[in-house]
Amino acid sequence: MNILLVDPDASRRAELQEILRHGGHSVAEFADGASALAGLAEIRPDVVIAEAASREREGTDVFRKIRMSGPMTPPYLIAIGQLDAIASAESDSGAWDGDADDVLSHPIRAEEVTTRLLVARRTLERRHDEAAQIKRISRIPADSPHPIVELTSSGVLIHANLASIPLLETWGWVAGRPAPSALRHLAASARKQGKPKRAEIACGEQTYSFMAVGLDGGDVCLYGHNVSDLPALHPEPDTSRTSVVGHTTRDSLTGLPTQALLANRLGQALKHARITGTLVALVKVNIDNCADINDAYGHSVGDQLIILVGESLRDEVRVGDSVLRDNGDGFILVLQGIGSRETAGVTCSRFIRAAQQAGDDAGIGVRFTLSMGFALFPDDADSEQSLVERADQALAEAKNSGRNCWRDYPAAVGANPMIGAVRLLPRLMGALQTRQLHAQYQPIIAASTGAVAGFEALVRWHDQDLGWIPPDRFIPIAEARGLIAEVGRQMADMVFQQLAVWRKAGHLVTVSLNISKRQLWEPSFADAMHQLATERQLAPGWIIMEATERQSLLHDRACRDTLERLAAAGFRLSIDDFGSGHSTFDVVTDLPFHELKVNMSLSRKAQSPRGRHVVKAILGMCDTLGLESVAEGIEDATLGAILQEIGTDKLQGYFYSPPLSAEASLQFLQRHPRQPAPTPASAKG
Ligand code: C2E
Ligand code: CA
Repeated sequence: MNILLVDPDASRRAELQEILRHGGHSVAEFADGASALAGLAEIRPDVVIAEAASREREGTDVFRKIRMSGPMTPPYLIAIGQLDAIASAESDSGAWDGDADDVLSHPIRAEEVTTRLLVARRTLERRHDEAAQIKRISRIPADSPHPIVELTSSGVLIHANLASIPLLETWGWVAGRPAPSALRHLAASARKQGKPKRAEIACGEQTYSFMAVGLDGGDVCLYGHNVSDLPALHPEPDTSRTSVVGHTTRDSLTGLPTQALLANRLGQALKHARITGTLVALVKVNIDNCADINDAYGHSVGDQLIILVGESLRDEVRVGDSVLRDNGDGFILVLQGIGSRETAGVTCSRFIRAAQQAGDDAGIGVRFTLSMGFALFPDDADSEQSLVERADQALAEAKNSGRNCWRDYPAAVGANPMIGAVRLLPRLMGALQTRQLHAQYQPIIAASTGAVAGFEALVRWHDQDLGWIPPDRFIPIAEARGLIAEVGRQMADMVFQQLAVWRKAGHLVTVSLNISKRQLWEPSFADAMHQLATERQLAPGWIIMEATERQSLLHDRACRDTLERLAAAGFRLSIDDFGSGHSTFDVVTDLPFHELKVNMSLSRKAQSPRGRHVVKAILGMCDTLGLESVAEGIEDATLGAILQEIGTDKLQGYFYSPPLSAEASLQFLQRHPRQPAPTPASAKG
């Protein structure tokens, strides 16, 4: 680099000269600011290093004058002197004004000089790029009334005409940032497909039709025109025969057709499929926990996310397929001529990945996941209405399976097709009346001693006709139909009784209960639990209530109140399923939790060296916050050993034991080393 050095101290100048020359830089040195400024135009330095803290403060003048001369890319300014001396020189005279970009401390050290210059080089490169960008933009002819922009292959905006400026402003674009995501996706899609691509893009209240055309060298030019007042680009078929009349057919946020056009689009697709003998997949797409994202990040971020997902889906589908905006955070896809059920599944996975990639590319700053459910015509349903209903069921199954996945209709009705065919609700009501639900207990092992630290109680239901019905199938029904409180009551009753049995046999173990948000909504829940524990003469400190942030506890006042009252009564609280999409340490710092359960997928990440760092950092965080940690879903010895080594307090999973009946839990306890007597309510830290 070209360096201009201004320093009245001759020996320091000589010292710096040597380091800089050794680093391959060319140096012009001056003892005073006036001569340095005189030589400035000729030298055109990349970096100016100037003494700034002495009485003479040569550097301050040089810096200010350079700043005032206002070149497009000013040199990088480094002040020599101790930070505090510079600061006091500044406050003495108000002269320094923080004009320098960086500070080089005195006495001079060669490594520090090298590092500061490295930072200088990077900063200058960035400034050059930005300046070049601004230059290009200002050079664009203002003669087209339509927006025209050009993007590089990496999505950087290199040309924008005057007509496009209001659009860029509406999208919140700022110089130096990647182009707005909608433009980038369209450009990427045109480049990928090697042919011009058109799409309608919403901008505030307006809709623009953009055509993206690839240029030599990978750049893409996008020409737009305002179509807000025009009929849709592909005129919607005659809508008078459908229920569309009086409904909005185009969604103002995403510019996509609305659900009002579904009957029409689906009708046409099925008609075509009947003639050609092909399959149609109706896919329901939903952004997981969108309401929570709105709560946490604000509605504008939620809106951006919906736009981005809509755009991504539109980019991914094939010509002839439809993407419609469903309700608030959902979309509907009609995929024609899909080869097989497997292809439909693979396609859904691709859509999920593409949307998340689009989110990363756009730097949206929010982690999000999608759930999808699909039904196939004619295999799963032979009418429009049943196809929609069955896709809905499949979507519900995807949600129940932990979200961030797809499910098809057969998966929704379960491996046991009987379960899907009958309505579970009346059977569940009967099971509660006759107290058919019971509990199994999965051991939780103390990592340091191998002793049984406690058990997690898991609800079980065996129906005489249907066999075992997994909790993931009936808990959501119980939650939706107001039966969860009763499920919880019956479980607590059995579980507290079992805890008394273990204690009587001399085993000092905890028991963990899964609690749904709806239970936490009940104002009497904490008191009822306390009363039940008192009746059985159990200290609440042996009872752990597990709740998951998937249910968004943090933002719900009633949940917070109940959790606080449970903690005040002496129960221990555990944050369940940490590592699922919406895990956040906010919940554990803001609410009185004692324990954190690392979910199976996060625990498994510890198998790779990189993932191990992540899990270790989370365990470290638990330690700092005084939380005990439990790693869930451990199915083999190696993973258990890794998690133990990196500091997990407790371990749970099939490797140690599956959930056990009450009798088997006692036998398990007898076979295992006893837990040294702890104080019941002692949390870590
Ligand atoms: P959860 O709280 O995450 O429970 C752990 C689930 O993982 C249990 O499934 C358990 O059997 C399973 N599991 C344990 N170790 C392993 C392992 O090593 N590998 C694998 N693949 N799985 C393992 P389960 O019993 O089907 O329970 C599913 C979910 O149902 C629970 O997830 C919990 O959210 C809910 N649930 C269960 N019992 C109750 C209850 O009494 N009340 C409420 N509200 N929810 C419950
Ligand atoms: Ca649990």
